[in-house]
Amino acid sequence: MAATTHTPDGTTESCRVCEAETPHDVRIEIRTESKKEHNAQYSREPYRVTTCLHCGDEDVLRMNNA
Ligand SMILES: [Zn+2]
Repeated sequence: MAATTHTPDGTTESCRVCEAETPHDVRIEIRTESKKEHNAQYSREPYRVTTCLHCGDEDVLRMNNA
């Protein structure tokens, strides 16, 4: 339904900087981790990156935190 307003991908989450519920831009990024302790072992992990549309603060959360 296109009955919603112009809010783009409206995701509202709490922002630690704004200290309020603000609209966020949410995207998934695959980032490669290099762990120096384990030689040449790289793991590609999906991260959920949320950016506050008010203050621009970026919050990164690793998705498979099992
Ligand atoms: Zn914010």
